[in-house]
Amino acid sequence: MSGNVPLDELGLPDLGSDPTHVYRMGVMGGTFDPIHNGHLVAAQQAVGDLGLDVVLFMPAGRPAFKQDRQVTRGEDRYAMTLLATSDNPMFLASRLEVDREGITYTADTLQTLRDHYPDNVEIYFITGADAIIDIVTWHDAERIARLAKLVGATRPGYDLGRAERVLDSSPIDFDVRYLEVPALAISSSYLRRRVERGQSLRYLTPDSVIGFVRKHHLYGSGDEIVA
Ligand code: ATP
Ligand code: MG
Repeated sequence: MSGNVPLDELGLPDLGSDPTHVYRMGVMGGTFDPIHNGHLVAAQQAVGDLGLDVVLFMPAGRPAFKQDRQVTRGEDRYAMTLLATSDNPMFLASRLEVDREGITYTADTLQTLRDHYPDNVEIYFITGADAIIDIVTWHDAERIARLAKLVGATRPGYDLGRAERVLDSSPIDFDVRYLEVPALAISSSYLRRRVERGQSLRYLTPDSVIGFVRKHHLYGSGDEIVA
């Protein structure tokens, strides 16, 4: 199966209908404040290397770990995620977490997806090398391990070897695989800092996202934001 996965009544990809086939769904969670080419390249690499049928990009509602700074409202982060993924038939933006009240826990999201799909749909939770180290400390890490396979993507500045050691020594039995992603030392914080300084976001995130940032004056941008 490839491309243009139809949506069901919940806005989720309609997968699993052929019981003789195994479907693979990637889930990339994040704050996506804003989404950038690092996220997109990592997800595309996962599609190719793991044979995923689709990747759900899941902007967090109220992220559990980012309560120290003002996070852009979910509706705007979802809109940018939708814009950035709209021209790729394998990518979908999901509202599942932005529509949920309270703090977002990955375990709850994965549970919702697991309950929704038959067993012939495998769930791959994709994270960068930094985030995968943290997973062992996440709320309900054990449940995450039961619900999904983990995919750790290399990320410049973060040691995948360290991630392997941390996960190996965890008492929780994670089913994890690692991906070599072409190095893109891009982060959302870097993009936000650039906007604050009036520097260009060109080639760091899709033009549609840059347009949205400018139109809505996100990250302290004025009309002068450089294209
Ligand atoms: P921030 O700088 O605000 O933390 P971020 O760039 O890390 O933003 P998040 O929304 O926190 O973006 O990340 C979502 C997921 O994407 C995490 O699993 C993170 O590790 C991964 N990720 C982010 N940037 C990259 C990148 N350049 N390469 C690979 N994975 C990445
Ligand atoms: Mg991050």
